[in-house]
Amino acid sequence: MTDKACRICHFISDGSICPNCDESDLSDDFSGIVVIIDPEGSAVARAMKVKKKGHYALRVR
Ligand SMILES: [Zn+2]
Repeated sequence: MTDKACRICHFISDGSICPNCDESDLSDDFSGIVVIIDPEGSAVARAMKVKKKGHYALRVR
């Protein structure tokens, strides 16, 4: 099982399509993981324009 990060929204998943934005532009070359638990109350989530809780990559190549 290989986790991949979406190049569009940085959402990390193990599928071939991003469950967050339905894009298939995924990369297994990413660094830094941010766990967003409370998108509404998190300044990090707001800064990253994240609306859904989950794991996000800080940097995707
Ligand atoms: Zn995405």
